[in-house]
Amino acid sequence: MPTRQDALAAAQRWFDDGHLLAEITRRVAFRTESQLDGSLPDLRRYLTDEIGPSLAKLGFAFRIVENPVAGAGPFLLAERHEGDALPTILMYGHGDVVPGHDAQWRTGLSPWALTVDGDRWYGRGTADNKGQHSINIAALGQVLAARGRLSCNVKWLFETGEETGSPGLRIVCERERTALGADVFIASDGPRLAAAKPTLFLGSRGAFNFDLTVDLREGGHHSGNWGGLIANPGTILANAIASLVDARGVILCAELRPPPIPESVRRALASIEPGEPAGPPVDRDWGEPGLTPAERVFAWNSLEVLAFRTGNPDHPVNAIPPRATAHLQLRFVVGCEPAGFIKALRTHLDRNGFAQVAVKAGSMETMRATRLDPEHPWVKRVAASIAATTGAPPAILPNLGGSLPNDCFADVLGLPTVWVPHSYPACSQHAPNEHMLASVAREGLAMMTGLFWDIGRDPAGA
Ligand SMILES: [Zn+2]
Repeated sequence: MPTRQDALAAAQRWFDDGHLLAEITRRVAFRTESQLDGSLPDLRRYLTDEIGPSLAKLGFAFRIVENPVAGAGPFLLAERHEGDALPTILMYGHGDVVPGHDAQWRTGLSPWALTVDGDRWYGRGTADNKGQHSINIAALGQVLAARGRLSCNVKWLFETGEETGSPGLRIVCERERTALGADVFIASDGPRLAAAKPTLFLGSRGAFNFDLTVDLREGGHHSGNWGGLIANPGTILANAIASLVDARGVILCAELRPPPIPESVRRALASIEPGEPAGPPVDRDWGEPGLTPAERVFAWNSLEVLAFRTGNPDHPVNAIPPRATAHLQLRFVVGCEPAGFIKALRTHLDRNGFAQVAVKAGSMETMRATRLDPEHPWVKRVAASIAATTGAPPAILPNLGGSLPNDCFADVLGLPTVWVPHSYPACSQHAPNEHMLASVAREGLAMMTGLFWDIGRDPAGA
């Protein structure tokens, strides 16, 4: 019988022979740009002609589920069932990508033709998300090739609208609750903490966008003749914002602040150093005092002014502007209820003398916050398996700083959610020159092969 070590060695040989590269090359060629009109046929083809047949080769039965939201791309559900007593993993991937923006890529690169340059594999979707789900599909294939069975049940859910805010995902999870039932959710998207640091994240911060507007009168008025006589909406709005968040980024509105950080979250974050070498330096004196940088971004809320406009910023004139608007965003952690945010803002503004400031929710849908306890048995199990493969424990983030539709899996399906990202912070996801690192993909393939091997070998759990 082949051993775990044999399976990992075979996976790496398979990688070194160019097979994963070939799979991802084929998938990158599908122009699944869900934000563009006319992308529906390609989104469907990606599922029916590429993902479905690839999973069928591994013994999965699959079906296409139409999106309940008109005009949004379909879903694919697949299942390989080996036994009722075995654990079941639900996996997830998204087949859509952001627009290619072909003309903006470096000379010689195309978003739709995978190009290898040193350790980099360039192409739209290599990092987000085709490369990542390709690694996970391949790892299942490696365990099957080595052992003949997974010794666990695996389900897949693919969507094709993640880059447009996952329309219909929640409804499909509600309707297909039984079909998607599992013991654990394991998926790959987003970046590792750093390229060389295997990482788990267990949820994501929520995101709530809102607009503040001060609209005082019809038009502008000469600032010499009227300055001192009539109120300035820009001044009022700036002060209203200052009542919500201070000059160091500390949130002043109690209802927008999270509950105390749980001890298990503090422990998980104790060794985490956020930021990246190519990124901006982390400001030491920014944000909630007394927190480490990791706690500030992963365990606390942040209130950001994303845009502010009064008068004509490009061509200022000597006039008191009639109107000021700002667009703000609250990133929030578990324990905050977004349904109460608007009311809390209204009450806060009124209490602080800003009745003239109108507040309304932004057009972007609110993302809810999720977080699995970093000491949950499934987290320990996945972390132990990765440590056995790589020789070092992975970094564990209780949640990502950014946002994901993880509430569909954590709240609607009620699953412990463990994300194992195979990308890295400088992957240019959503930008020209998107790429994945071959070294990270190779290690990711080994990690996932080892993980599926271990879950099957020890179905009862650690
Ligand atoms: Zn994306």
